[in-house]
Amino acid sequence: MDEQPGGPVPPTSVKRGHQSSPELQAPGQDQRLLAVFELARILVSEDDQQTLLTQFLSGLISRLEAADAGSLWLYDAASDRLVAASAQGYDLASLRQMRLAPGEAIAGKVFQRGESILCSTPGETADVMADLTDANRQFFVQATAGLGEALSALGVPLLTVGSTIGVLVFLNLQQPSGFTNGDLFFLERVADLLSLSIENARLREELRGSEALGEANRLKAELISTLAHEMRTPLTSIKGYSTALLMEEAAFSPETQREFLQIIDEECDTLQHLIRDILESSVIDAGLLKLEMQPVLLARLIQEVVDDMARRAVGCRFVVDLADRLPVVEADPERITQVLRNLLDNAVKYSPGGGLIMVRAESRPEEVVVSVADQGVGIAPEHLHQLFEKFFRAKTGLIQHIVGSGLGLPISHAIVESHGGRIWAESVSGQGSTFYFTLPVPGPDHGSDEGGAE
Ligand code: ADP
Repeated sequence: MDEQPGGPVPPTSVKRGHQSSPELQAPGQDQRLLAVFELARILVSEDDQQTLLTQFLSGLISRLEAADAGSLWLYDAASDRLVAASAQGYDLASLRQMRLAPGEAIAGKVFQRGESILCSTPGETADVMADLTDANRQFFVQATAGLGEALSALGVPLLTVGSTIGVLVFLNLQQPSGFTNGDLFFLERVADLLSLSIENARLREELRGSEALGEANRLKAELISTLAHEMRTPLTSIKGYSTALLMEEAAFSPETQREFLQIIDEECDTLQHLIRDILESSVIDAGLLKLEMQPVLLARLIQEVVDDMARRAVGCRFVVDLADRLPVVEADPERITQVLRNLLDNAVKYSPGGGLIMVRAESRPEEVVVSVADQGVGIAPEHLHQLFEKFFRAKTGLIQHIVGSGLGLPISHAIVESHGGRIWAESVSGQGSTFYFTLPVPGPDHGSDEGGAE
């Protein structure tokens, strides 16, 4: 089908509101009013924008006797082109490939003029489409394959205050002069409804965007102030002790010098951990956490991590209690080590008076449950659900001077969840905490037993 632009004599351009409303005053007016209400009802439905536009266009065509096919074009300011947003009777995928410049074809002309165009004859209809670019024509031919020649066409602008946001185009494939002034009047009213709805959706989207941006900025500010705070403590200490060591007049004993250097060394470790956690957390946020999955003997992994921790944490006593036959799990051993180390670090850190730290692993039908229990300060019930939020730290009582990033548990949470497991905590305030995490066990065809505890 070869619609095309008007030759020297343009098809009828109709200024909005200048035509009378023959059909809304005629006996068929009830039908048209009903149609307007029904279309309005589609526009206020909760459906997503694409479904809504499709339903709207198909509802419109079914109520417009002369229309056999219809398309909705929206203006994309970035590319200065009209793009098909929805269509009935066309192949939408092909139509979507077209990029119509303002002034090009019927949609482009309606858009440019901000006025409806009625092509009453096949000649006018072909003329108004004649200036399609080669690329657009190719897609248009594909989009209208099998439709036959358009005998008449009607284009109506979608107007909002001060601008045209798109165009509705309808084709008649059966009878010349198919579209009446009544159709035009009806379509312009309906186009006003559609414009309002599209503009509303756009404003809602903008609002959501600015709210999200506000929230993102707030989080960023919070992040910076948290980081500045967490870094200031170790930096102040490093600065203080190194300045003291550099003072020429001060004569510190070799033991004192060593003690100062020890503190500097520890504070550097704290800073290093903090920076590592921040980087790790940003990798997770960017969705770049990569797992190198392989069969893992959990019993061995747990024992190694606990042994290493026991060497460093002298104030605590460690007990490992593993089920007799732990299944082999499919996991990233480095990441699971990281989770376990973090839970053990916390168990030690939040047990300022030392105590027993018990590490258990038990086998359930579809998962292995690993737990780390301490006899430390515990966690208040109102904090239990916040533990895995980024930067959450319960800075109360005994533990307000304990340094940390508030990132360890969120990172552990992300790692466990990316393995398909769960992580949670139970605690009695003042008596200790137990952290649990699970790892799924492959079905009976995949896994084999480790064959007993280590
Ligand atoms: P960090 O320990 O670096 O502050 P985490 O994300 O590992 O960060 O932990 C978040 C918070 O959860 C801690 O600040 C602490 O308040 C609480 N918490 C974590 N583990 C324990 C524990 N074993 N006992 C008591 N409180 C804990």
